[in-house]
Amino acid sequence: MVTPPALPQSDVAIGIFGGTFDPVHFGHLRAAVEVREKLGLADLRLLPAGDPPHRSGTVATAVQRLAMLRLAIASCPGLQVDDREVRRAGPSFMFDTLTEIRSEAGAAPLFLLIGQDAANMLDTWHRWRELFDLAHLVVMRRPDAHFQCAGELRREIERRRVDEPGRLQGAAAGSVLALEITQLDISATLIRGLFAQGRSPCYLTPDSVIEYIHAHRLYSNG
Ligand code: ATP
Repeated sequence: MVTPPALPQSDVAIGIFGGTFDPVHFGHLRAAVEVREKLGLADLRLLPAGDPPHRSGTVATAVQRLAMLRLAIASCPGLQVDDREVRRAGPSFMFDTLTEIRSEAGAAPLFLLIGQDAANMLDTWHRWRELFDLAHLVVMRRPDAHFQCAGELRREIERRRVDEPGRLQGAAAGSVLALEITQLDISATLIRGLFAQGRSPCYLTPDSVIEYIHAHRLYSNG
């Protein structure tokens, strides 16, 4: 009898949506839900950056941003929070994070979700070329937004681009898919600004997040 090959540690495709989430808002959450449904993912993880290398700093601490994310997804089945970057010391490089997740996921497809704005700057990320060895890239774009990158990044994206989610299913990593999702014109910057001005953030982020921000006196300039 032929012995079946050893199963990978996990054969469940995983979506990874990284960000600072300072704070998380409905723009992030709606995007996560739509990508999860369009790719048929059982496991979609929002992954807050512990110490984001591209930012001069966050307003809320990593632990507070993590707590807000947990509150935000509490009532949404299929979304999870991955806290590994908050637990890990040092700068939060996506390359290190994906390397860790790849070692846990075996040969399962990994999908790294990023917004169009972030995709256009991918070549500023640590070891960006090797990200394609670890995951597929899913670029969440506005209906009228386009890739605005040049040089090597543009060539990599053109070379790897596929148009259909089904084309990603057979491989663990290496392709780029642009997905149109409902873009709510909400940013964390907008929400921080509203709190700083004493204005209402209602209907931009879940009530549980708003309550947390008030309870911890975040974003209000004292
Ligand atoms: P800030 O205003 O502080 O820069 P942000 O609202 O852009 O924050 P981030 O945590 O920096 O949020 O973003 C994480 C990811 O979420 C990025 O890939 C970004 O493109 C994407 N994103 C941010 N806002 C939206 C939105 N309204 N809809 C879809 N994706 C979004």
